[in-house]
Amino acid sequence: MNEQLLSRIRECPTLPSLPTIAIQVLDLAQRESVDIAEIARVISKDPALSSKILRTVNSSFYGRSQSIGTISHALVILGLQSVKTLVLGFSLVTTLAKDKGKGFKHLTFWRRSIYSATAARTIASKIKLVQQEECFLAALMKDIGVLVFDQVLGDQYGAVCEKISTHCELPAAEQEAFELTHAQVSGMLAEQWKLPPLLSVPMTFHHEPEKVEDPSLRKLADLVYLSSICADVFVDENAAGPIGMVRKFCQEKYQLNEADCDALLDEIGRRTREVAPLFEINIGPATTFEAILKKANEALVELTLRSQRQTSTLQAQNQQLKVQATTDALTGLNNRATFDQFISEKFAESIRENKQLSLLMLDVDKFKSINDKHGHPTGDQVLKYVARIIKAAARQQDLAVRYGGEEMCIILPGSTRAVATTLAETIRRALAAKPVAAGNLSIPVTASFGVATLEPPFIFKEPAQLIKAADLAVYAAKHAGRNCVRVFSPPKTQTKAA
Ligand code: GH3
Ligand code: MG
Ligand code: MG
Repeated sequence: MNEQLLSRIRECPTLPSLPTIAIQVLDLAQRESVDIAEIARVISKDPALSSKILRTVNSSFYGRSQSIGTISHALVILGLQSVKTLVLGFSLVTTLAKDKGKGFKHLTFWRRSIYSATAARTIASKIKLVQQEECFLAALMKDIGVLVFDQVLGDQYGAVCEKISTHCELPAAEQEAFELTHAQVSGMLAEQWKLPPLLSVPMTFHHEPEKVEDPSLRKLADLVYLSSICADVFVDENAAGPIGMVRKFCQEKYQLNEADCDALLDEIGRRTREVAPLFEINIGPATTFEAILKKANEALVELTLRSQRQTSTLQAQNQQLKVQATTDALTGLNNRATFDQFISEKFAESIRENKQLSLLMLDVDKFKSINDKHGHPTGDQVLKYVARIIKAAARQQDLAVRYGGEEMCIILPGSTRAVATTLAETIRRALAAKPVAAGNLSIPVTASFGVATLEPPFIFKEPAQLIKAADLAVYAAKHAGRNCVRVFSPPKTQTKAA
């Protein structure tokens, strides 16, 4: 954070201050024994403010059937919190809106603020959050830092605002230019005004609610963040992006479907058109959400398609990564990591279910001399050929693996020693039957095979012992002159009679 700029802001003589009436009401409301009559008297001394409050509480925004005639009546019916919110909101907007600002679009600022505030209250009511008034006020004031920046930095700030196309991009642009964001300044001001955390925290974190750790404050921060995007729907040139974001957020956070969410946006539009004049905020030609949606629909469809395309590209990339992590690049067979996992799973399953598990291992004969004679690339082609045969021989439930350099194997769950031995013999014969065609060359290739089987009474206690047994069998095949199959036979268990 840019402390230097922050203290320059703190010391700025024209920094917005809390209107006197708001200070008085806040002060009275915080006393131990709250005197409602005294609060009513203070508010009633400002006739313009009182009349705005009464018009608001009688508007459909508050949805009262009974008409409210006086401030003390409003305090009784709606409660202190609601009236306090309105005093603070109205007095601040009246004070601040007088100043037309320098480098940025003032009208847009106030339109955004009132749309956000109404959105926050409407959504809070929809999700049955108790702190509806706080949400309204925090959303109304969350961007007050923008006014402060405008006051303190003038054209310099205007230039930054010019560069961005939507409010979401503002914090990053501010951070880059000043190492301080309007949200941080809003929060600083809220603290200076001694506003409670229920207001100051959502104001500070309205662009990054995920940073709020306290769960109940997080709820408010999320909602105020969402209210800002709802405002973008009505204020931004291009509404498709924000509509998509609102729908996604509402779905993920509040399990509201698209229709619910659109109905909510429609209500926000209606309520804002009603409330804005009470705040003397000109929201310009008030477009309904229906009209906005109609205009944005084509772009929204494109957006949805693009996101679907991105999802499927991502899925394809994930799939590719998974394949890369589990297979051998040269042969396309499963790699050693997959082998290790598969064999330990199947080993445990065999013992648990009293079933056999066979391991067939092969080692290409005199492979080094193939490399030496024809070169490494030709050696690679030979390996690919052997791998194809291995892969074709493996059944659905088996796993064909490149175990190491020119060693490959098949794990055969449920297969007896006899089945595995027959399969080994079939592969051996197929290999030896015809030479491998590599370019113009025709290279005779054979391999030596070892078979080991895990079976009752389960003399192997862990996968490594089964692997070792298959390895010994391969070694025996090499010893016997290569191009043959050898089977590991367990030592005979001693019987009592022996
Ligand atoms: P043996 O019949 O006793 O198994 O003899 P061998 O020559 O097959 O055995 P050795 O272990 O001496 O040699 C294996 C050779 O395999 C050595 C190594 O360079 C080669 N090799 C290992 N991985 C690859 C590979 O990915 N591509 C190629 N072309 N060669 C490889
Ligand atoms: Mg903001
Ligand atoms: Mg070899």
